[in-house]
Amino acid sequence: MTDKSAIKEALEKFFGHKSFKSELQERAITCAVKKKQDVYVSMPTGSGKSLCFQLPGLMCENQLTIVFSPLLALIKDQIDHLAKLKVQADSLNSKMSTKERERVIMDLRAIKTNIKFLYITPEQAATKFFQDLLHSLHKHKKLAYFAVDEAHCVSQWGHDFRPDYLKLGDLRAKYPDVVWLALTATASKEVREDIYKQLRLRQPVAQFSTPSFRSNLYYDIVYKNSIEDDFHHLATFAQHCLGDESEFKATPKGKRGCGIIYCRTRDQVERVAVGVSKQGVGTVAYHAGLKTAERTEVQEAWMRGDQPIICATNSFGMGVDKPSVRFVIHWDVPQNVAAYYQESGRAGRDGLQSYCRLYYGREDVRSIRFLLQNDAQRARGRGDREMLTERALRQFERIVDFCEQTRCRHKLFADYFGDPAPDCSAQCDVCKRPKQAAKALETFQKLCMD
Ligand code: ADP
Ligand code: MG
Ligand code: ZN
Repeated sequence: MTDKSAIKEALEKFFGHKSFKSELQERAITCAVKKKQDVYVSMPTGSGKSLCFQLPGLMCENQLTIVFSPLLALIKDQIDHLAKLKVQADSLNSKMSTKERERVIMDLRAIKTNIKFLYITPEQAATKFFQDLLHSLHKHKKLAYFAVDEAHCVSQWGHDFRPDYLKLGDLRAKYPDVVWLALTATASKEVREDIYKQLRLRQPVAQFSTPSFRSNLYYDIVYKNSIEDDFHHLATFAQHCLGDESEFKATPKGKRGCGIIYCRTRDQVERVAVGVSKQGVGTVAYHAGLKTAERTEVQEAWMRGDQPIICATNSFGMGVDKPSVRFVIHWDVPQNVAAYYQESGRAGRDGLQSYCRLYYGREDVRSIRFLLQNDAQRARGRGDREMLTERALRQFERIVDFCEQTRCRHKLFADYFGDPAPDCSAQCDVCKRPKQAAKALETFQKLCMD
C-alpha cells in the first residue's frame, strides 16, 4: 500500500473524515508520517492543526506521542475530543487524583502501552519524575513524536511567552532520533525563527505555512490632514463599500454586507459612531464601557445584519467570525503589524472583494507613542515587563514607518510573516496608482511640517 492511501485510510478510520481540510494539512501530515524531518506547521485557528500530529501519531503502532500544550483547559478539550473517537489520550498533571495518575503511569510502564497521546504542560515536563519516565519510554522505543502545540509560547517574541517552554530544547539532545512537530497559528518570521532555535529543530525543517496574502482585500491609507470633513469621508466610504440600496450588494446568503470601524479609545468610538450616524449612515458603538447586556445586544444586532456598521475598540472581534464583512476601517493607527493584519483580516472571509482602510495622522501617532514611552519608562529595570514594553514601542514604530512609505501594502504583511512577495494585482493604493500615492504622502508630510 502506498503511503498516500494508507494515510487516507487512517484519516477515515480514526477520524471519520473523507478528505483533508486543505492541501497544506495533507502535505504536513504526509511529511510527518515519513519521519524524515522535523515539521513546522503554521495555519490559522480552526484549520485543523491537531490532526497534523494526531494522525501521524495514530499511525505509529505500539508507540505514543508526547504533546506539549500550554493550558490544562486545552489539554482537557483535546483529550475529550479524542475519547469520543475512541482514542486513548491522557495527561499527567497536578489536578488529577492519585488513582488516575497511577492508572496512567501503570499503562506507560506496561509492556504494551494503550495510551496514544500523552498531553503535558512544559512545567510538568520539567519535573524529575517526568524526565525519568521519558527516559524509560525512549529506552523501550515507545516514543512516536514530540509535538509542541501553540509553539509560539516558546518564543520571547510570541504574545504569550512561557519560560518553561525553553527547556524543551534539551530533549532534542537527549533523544536525537525522535521527530518533532511544532504547530502554531500564523506567526511572524521572528517568532518562527525563534521556535526553530529554541526547540533546536533539525535543519532543514519541513515548513508548512498558510500564506498570509489575502487577495480579495484592497488596502489603502488616507491621510487625515488631507480630508475636510472626517465623518462625511467615513460615511461616504462605508456606503461605497456596502453598495447603495439600489445596487444592493447581496452576499450569497442574501444578506447585505457589513463593516467595522476601529478606534483606539471609548471616547473616540462614541464620537465617530454619532458623527457617522448623523451623516445618515447608521453606526452603533461597542466598547468595554458598555454594560455586558448592551454589548451583547450590539454585537448580536451586528451579527444578524440589523445594524450593519459597528464602531468599536479592538476589544471587538475576537472569536467573531462573520463572512460578509465588506470593510474594516482603522480610524487610528493600529498597535502593530500583527494587530493590523488580524483586525483588518476580519474583512472578506467569504472571499469576496472587500476593503481595508487606515486613516493616518501624526497626532494619533504622537499620543500613542507618548503612552508607550511612558509604559516603557515605568517598566525600566523590571525584567520581562521592560522587555515587553520596549517591544511594543518598537513594533509600533514599525507600522508608523510603513504608513509613511509608498510600498505595496500587502508586501508589508508578507515581510512580517516571512512570505515571498505576493502578486498584489492592484489590490492596494500604491500598486493601483503609484504616482497618486506618492503625491498624497508628500503632501501629508509637507502639511505636517507647517
Ligand atoms: P486548530 O488547532 O488549527 O485551531 P483544530 O485542530 O482544533 O484546529 O481543528 C479545527 C476543527 O477542524 C476541528 O473541529 C476538527 O475536528 C476539524 N477538522 C480537522 N481536520 C479536518 C478534516 N480533514 N476534515 C474535517 N474536519 C476537520
Ligand atoms: Mg490547536
Ligand atoms: Zn500592492
